Amino acid sequence: MQRRKQDEMTSIARIPDTPKKRVVIVGSGFAGLRLARSLSSRNFQVVVIDKNNYHQFQPLLYQVATSGLEPAAIAFPLRKIFQNKKHIHIRVAKFLAVDKDMNCIRTSIGTIQYDYFVIAIGVRPNFFGNRNIEKYALSMKAISDAIYIRNIILENFEKALSADTEEEMALMNIVIAGGGPTGVELAGAIAEMRKFILPKDYPELDFNKMEIHLMEGTDRLLGGMSLKASERSKLFLENMGIKVRLEAIVKDYDGKVVLLDDGTSIRSETLLWAAGIKACEVKGLPSETYGKGGRIVVDEFNKVHGTTNIFAIGDIAIMISEKYPSGHPQVAQPAIQQGLQLSKNLKRLQLSRSLMPFRYAEKGSLATVGRNRAVADLPFGSFSGFWAWVLWLFVHLMSLVGKKNRLFVIISWFLSYFTYDRSFRLLIKPKTRKSP
Ligand SMILES: Cc1cc2nc3c(=O)[nH]c(=O)nc-3n(C[C@H](O)[C@H](O)[C@H](O)COP(=O)(O)OP(=O)(O)OC[C@H]3O[C@@H](n4cnc5c(N)ncnc54)[C@H](O)[C@@H]3O)c2cc1C
Repeated sequence: MQRRKQDEMTSIARIPDTPKKRVVIVGSGFAGLRLARSLSSRNFQVVVIDKNNYHQFQPLLYQVATSGLEPAAIAFPLRKIFQNKKHIHIRVAKFLAVDKDMNCIRTSIGTIQYDYFVIAIGVRPNFFGNRNIEKYALSMKAISDAIYIRNIILENFEKALSADTEEEMALMNIVIAGGGPTGVELAGAIAEMRKFILPKDYPELDFNKMEIHLMEGTDRLLGGMSLKASERSKLFLENMGIKVRLEAIVKDYDGKVVLLDDGTSIRSETLLWAAGIKACEVKGLPSETYGKGGRIVVDEFNKVHGTTNIFAIGDIAIMISEKYPSGHPQVAQPAIQQGLQLSKNLKRLQLSRSLMPFRYAEKGSLATVGRNRAVADLPFGSFSGFWAWVLWLFVHLMSLVGKKNRLFVIISWFLSYFTYDRSFRLLIKPKTRKSP
């Protein structure tokens, strides 16, 4: 173990030499992918580093977690995206730290030199220092998390068949902490499962007794959206039989009982954690570079505070302006737009031209609440219901990478809409190798 760490620090990752400037991007999410796709071979050699060999579409993770979509429908292999792009070199590796004085980064496959370094590794769940919640709750940030949640939910119903009455309820009840878009969308999808699918799969269990709780710490759901969207989403969820509680904070969890700050508790073996995020760790930058929630402070060109050739884009970056005193919202559009803008600015740097500041073009927000219902805040106004849901379907479908994925998703949605069924209720667990 010690030796492997030593090797990572001293070995040099093999990347072809080039007379062109090398741009090293860590993270191939919305921001990193957009940037890499927009950098031309004429000007740059591009090295894309990600711990996964695929790009994942996080807005639809909740559908994988609730058996509505198969994982492959929302993931796209990086090597396929960059097929025939000889100036792009993909390395599946973990980014460990940056050495800004040596212009190199340390990764799990060795060090890599850069001319320009771009940090786009996004965020991770924030458990606010509560070790128990971190240990026992389930968070959803990646496809592997969504598959894990799907397995736990399905496995709990299998166990409930042979449990005593009290344990049966704990296995069936689901508590969701966090009433942002992820919590709201998860709650809606689980309520749909309870209504249309689970009673058919498990006729021996009484689903009238299954409780779905949504806990939100502030005084409204969907805090980043309009008041109208908050109120409508709450109404939609309550009509679906979800117990929504506002100003309710989950204080502790031991894997069996969820304890709230008002002293009440709920028996549940499934606590889904959607209550907070913080930046992924980036070692090696000066301390003043780290802002609120560990986000990396950047100027209006996405350049990291106190550096000349290091940039941060997407969720991990915080660009403070008069209009966005807490930085841009941590959603897909600012990440995509920053990736595109940075590609233009890197080209301008090459041509010794002045950089163009980033200006966020707000396109609106959407959240779906189960079948046929969604809330939409658009630049011209807010609306909700069936047409908001149709818009949500269209926007999410068009944002997916790859025609094949779009086709898979549209077929899955079409089938589940008309059959009231979800095809991916499979309990597939990774096999672990026994140690010798
Ligand atoms: C469940 C969920 C639902 C969401 N729903 C919506 C929605 O409906 N609409 C919306 O606009 N936004 C939504 N978001 C937010 C949106 O997904 C993010 O704002 C967006 O993904 C940010 O893009 P990014 O490129 O900054 O980071 P990400 O897309 O998170 O990409 C980060 C990349 O970095 C890689 N990485 C991380 N650490 C390392 C490391 N150490 N080494 C190597 N690689 C690393 C990861 O594998 C990943 O590929 C949702 C997010 C989640 C989690």
